[in-house]
Amino acid sequence: MSEKKGNSYSAKIFLVTVLAAMFVFLLGAYVVLDDGTSPAPKPENGTSVTTAAPGASVTTASPEGTTAGVQQPTETQKPDNQTTQPSESQQSTSKPSTQSPGGPVVPTVITVSDSNWQMTLLNINYKLPEDYVVQRAVAVEGVNSVELDYRVAPYYKAMYDAAKAEGIYLTPYSGYRRYTTQERNYNNLVNKYVNQGKSRSDAQVLAAQAIMPPGCSEHNMGVAMDICGTDTSFENTKAFAWLNEHAADYGFILRYAKDKRDITGVMYEPWHWRYVGEENAKAIKASGKCLEEYLGQA
Ligand SMILES: [Zn+2]
Repeated sequence: MSEKKGNSYSAKIFLVTVLAAMFVFLLGAYVVLDDGTSPAPKPENGTSVTTAAPGASVTTASPEGTTAGVQQPTETQKPDNQTTQPSESQQSTSKPSTQSPGGPVVPTVITVSDSNWQMTLLNINYKLPEDYVVQRAVAVEGVNSVELDYRVAPYYKAMYDAAKAEGIYLTPYSGYRRYTTQERNYNNLVNKYVNQGKSRSDAQVLAAQAIMPPGCSEHNMGVAMDICGTDTSFENTKAFAWLNEHAADYGFILRYAKDKRDITGVMYEPWHWRYVGEENAKAIKASGKCLEEYLGQA
């Protein structure tokens, strides 16, 4: 009798432990799903903002893209257009990132050029210095507090206003993101993959498809905006169609195209628009290339 009670007690303890473990796991998954974005602002047009897509896509991300992120950049190709050279600093950064087999991903720290900062290439191979300071401004005052580099914010605002005049709301969702926030979210996702049995280097490359390592994200530099949320269904909206047609006029490009995953190493992100300046944006769009290809870093 008492033995039976004891067993029953043990079973309860076991059940409670399992439930607690599940809770912790789900909490971890939620943090990862957040994609490092700030709390969802309420869009003006009342469409719901969801953060579910990046995490969800991560789990279904096909492994064939996993090697793309560690391709060694080449220095031999040159952009077609002389005015769109990569920043001086990156040209001088001739040493690409290194990844020993099974070892950690080690991005090369770049120096941002004063004269050509718009074309700074950030990806799993190239990162900002940890002490890089972003002078920021709210992108669209009166809508929410999402910030961009102060040199980019006016262009976003102009684009926002132009779309709004046509009844389309390019609600800022996530712009500038702190290094530490990026670090936390990236590490959470890497650890999730490690816990699933991946090697640390594989986990890092997989994680970078959705969340760049700290300093490697265009959000850390304040030159990219996630518009209206981070849901792949954004590609079916009027806002996305409008951006495809007009964003280049304001200096923004779709950074992670569907057909460039092998090169960017990043999943398709219809919501992520990167500022490169009007002239560059138009030239890049016309070329049909992604930024890595355009800069000869593919
Ligand atoms: Zn983004």
